[in-house]
Amino acid sequence: MSLIVKIGKKGKAIAKRVLSPVETHHISYTRRIERVKTDRRILAMTFDDGPMDLPCSPDLFDGRSLSDVILDTLEEFGAKGTFDVIGDTSDNYPDKAGAPGSAAWGGIRYDHYPDFGKDASGGAVHNDRLIRRMLGGGHQITNHGYRHIIFGKKPFVYGKRVFLGSFDGALEDLTRLHRVLSENYGYEMTMGRPPHYVDRVQGGLSSYDVYDVMGYQYLAASFDGAGWLPSTAGDRQTAFEEEVRAMAEPVRAALEKDPDFFCGQIIFQKEGCNMARRTPVAVGLRRQLEILSDYGYRVVTVNELMKESPFTDVGRDDPDFEKFETLQRSRAVVFSDNRLRPDAPMKTGELAMLLCPKKRLLESRRKAADDKKATLYRCAVEICAEEGLIPAGVREDAAVSALPEGLFDSTEDMTRRSVLRAYRADR
Ligand SMILES: [Zn+2]
Repeated sequence: MSLIVKIGKKGKAIAKRVLSPVETHHISYTRRIERVKTDRRILAMTFDDGPMDLPCSPDLFDGRSLSDVILDTLEEFGAKGTFDVIGDTSDNYPDKAGAPGSAAWGGIRYDHYPDFGKDASGGAVHNDRLIRRMLGGGHQITNHGYRHIIFGKKPFVYGKRVFLGSFDGALEDLTRLHRVLSENYGYEMTMGRPPHYVDRVQGGLSSYDVYDVMGYQYLAASFDGAGWLPSTAGDRQTAFEEEVRAMAEPVRAALEKDPDFFCGQIIFQKEGCNMARRTPVAVGLRRQLEILSDYGYRVVTVNELMKESPFTDVGRDDPDFEKFETLQRSRAVVFSDNRLRPDAPMKTGELAMLLCPKKRLLESRRKAADDKKATLYRCAVEICAEEGLIPAGVREDAAVSALPEGLFDSTEDMTRRSVLRAYRADR
C-alpha cells in the first residue's frame, strides 16, 4: 500500500472519529454543536485555519487570496460562512516542514498557516482587511486557537507535536485570540473548535472545561465538506479535479437520496491548503452551493442556525420549546452532545447541574483539576448538598425522587421534561 493511500485511510478514520466521536455525555455548559433540529432547508458551513491571504493553488482567480475567493463565492449565493480562525503561527519556530502529503506537511512540531514559512500571510493578526471583510459581510468568526497548538497530547497521530498540556495554557491561548477580536473589532466570539479536535487537556479536564470558562459552545460539524485530503489520482491537474469532485458529489448524492438531508446540518471545510498544497475549496465550494441552492437551501452562520433550535433533538414544534430555549441560556440543562433527552428520568447529577451556580461550580472543578473523579456532576452534587438543595450522600446517577421545595411548581413525574418544565427560572 502506498504511503499516500495509508495516509488517506488514516485521514478518513480520523474524519469519522472527528465527526461522530464515541463518548458518554453529561449535562454541560459547553455543548458540542454538530447539527440542530429543524425541518427547514437551512444549514451552516465552517471554514478552519484562516484567514489566508495567499493566492489559491492552482491560481485560477488572478492572484486573489483564498479567503477573498471563498467570501466572493459565499456572497454571490447570499450565503454566510462561519470562519474558525487562528491568530498567528509565526512564533511556532524552530521547526521543520514534514513530508509533502503527510499530516506534518506544514510543520513537524507545530502547525504553520497558511503554509510553512508563510505565517505572515495567515491568521487574524496579519489580516485586518480580511477580518473586517468577514465581519462587515455578516459572517461569523469563531476561535480556533491563537497559535493552533493542540491542547493535550495526541500520541497516535500527532506524536511529535508540541502541545499546551495545561488548563491555564489552553485558556491563555484562547483568551489571547478572543482579545484580538474583542479589542480591535468589538466582536465577541461565542464558539471554539480545538486544533485537530484534541479534547484532553490536563488530568480530567478537557476542552469543554476550558470553553466553560470562556463561555463558549463547541463548534463541531455533522458532514465533511472534503477537499482537505489530497487525491492520489494521476497528475496534479487530475488530482485537483478529483478533489473538487470529492467535495461536490457526496453533497449531490445525499440530496438525491433525501432532499431534506442537510436540514440543520453543519458542513466542515478548510480555509487553507490541503496536504498537497492545493485549495480545491476555491472551486468545490461553488459546486456545493450550486447544488444546495437547486434544492432551495440557505446557508447561514452557526449562530443563526441555532436560532432555529439550539438543540439536536428538540425543535420548535415541541410544546415546551420556549421554556427549554429560555432555560438553556442561563442554566446547564443540555447534554454535551447538545441533546435535551426530555423523556429520560431526571438523575441527581443533572438536577444538581440545573441548580448549581455556574461560577462556584467551575471554581470547584478547576481546583480539583488533577482528580479524575471530580467530575462536574460530583462537584455540583457536593455544592447542592452543602446548600441543602439535595440530600447529602445521594449518588449522582440516582434517579431524582423528590425536588427541593420552593424552586419548582408541581410536576406530574420525574422525567427531565417534567422537572425542567416545573423549574421556576425567574426565582
Ligand atoms: Zn485547524
